[in-house]
Amino acid sequence: MSVIVGPFRLSPEFFTPTRLKYQCAVLGCDGDCCSGGVTATLYEVARIKAHADELQAYLVEPYDFDTWDIAHPSDIGTPVLYEEKPTQQCWFQRANRLCALHSLALDQAMPVPAIKPFFCLFFPLTLIDLDINVTEIAVDGKAYETCLVPSDTETYLFKEFEQELRRVIGDANYDELLRRYPD
Ligand code: SF4
Repeated sequence: MSVIVGPFRLSPEFFTPTRLKYQCAVLGCDGDCCSGGVTATLYEVARIKAHADELQAYLVEPYDFDTWDIAHPSDIGTPVLYEEKPTQQCWFQRANRLCALHSLALDQAMPVPAIKPFFCLFFPLTLIDLDINVTEIAVDGKAYETCLVPSDTETYLFKEFEQELRRVIGDANYDELLRRYPD
């Protein structure tokens, strides 16, 4: 069952004892999570396309933004480069494995959320719709393949993702979780 704290609903996976640890918090992100690109909305596409020309200099290969398929708004993703190959990556991932959208925002002193898709900002967390107007915060499936690795120590994922959860649900709600689930 979901765990409710304040106005937030959290997936039970956060509170199930696990022997996984969040390696990126210690070793840094290697960018593997960007291999498949990410879901995007029409609004996010429009915000990115507004910077199409400036973005080209950051890309591994030039991208023709006019080919971005947005015919089905519920099924839009960032473009994928080297699709179906071992080197497959989001087209917006730079040669140095960083995100071109994030880099452009920093270089132009623009807020990163003004151009980076929401689900990239939210990762390794994600949102699951349980019903109309019922949304649960969960761990993105991709995080199990990239960010989380086996550990000898038993813990909870809500502790491994403390920083990310505090950013989303706030310190007061996170501290309430610590009271409910002490060591
Ligand atoms: S937009 Fe940036 S952060 Fe998101 S998947 Fe692509 S490269 Fe990664």
